[in-house]
Amino acid sequence: MSNKALFLDRDGVVNVDHGYVYEPEKFEFVDGVFSACKAFVDAGYKLIIVTNQSGIGRGYYTEADFHALTDWLIGQFDKRDVTVSGVYFCPHHPKKALPRYLKECDCRKPAPGMLLQGIYEHHIDASQSIMVGDKLSDMQAASNANIATKVLVRSGQAFDSQAIDAADHICDSLAALPAILL
Ligand SMILES: [Mg+2]
Ligand SMILES: [Zn+2]
Repeated sequence: MSNKALFLDRDGVVNVDHGYVYEPEKFEFVDGVFSACKAFVDAGYKLIIVTNQSGIGRGYYTEADFHALTDWLIGQFDKRDVTVSGVYFCPHHPKKALPRYLKECDCRKPAPGMLLQGIYEHHIDASQSIMVGDKLSDMQAASNANIATKVLVRSGQAFDSQAIDAADHICDSLAALPAILL
């Protein structure tokens, strides 16, 4: 049996994008994220975060730092009775990274690797699923993974007309999404 998923980019969607955030003290949730996510979980969606983390490859923080933040993040959702089913990250960068992270990988968005892994591991039906992001690369990754619905939010990075063209819906933030899609 297949599940439907709400795939979420992290920076600019779940949290305010202050740039290479890896400490809980500096992690600022976008308003309304928990209740919006709860509404999707209650409607039968699994929550799966897919995040480019080139800050690891660039040496700004380590994979251990990322995992510590992720554990804390999942705990913040748990406290509000919202289950995060999966978190996938790409530590690579094709040009600026420490040697072992320097590569043209298939996980860094706009490549669909993280989405495809999430789809496989959680038995997700892409044709019933949603991707929310704040960049063109999020929309392209979703498209490359055949995710049915692509949502661009204004809570993150400034985006251009190409991103707008690639999106099915545009809204101020994740908080506005249940009213549009549920
Ligand atoms: Mg982002
Ligand atoms: Zn990667």
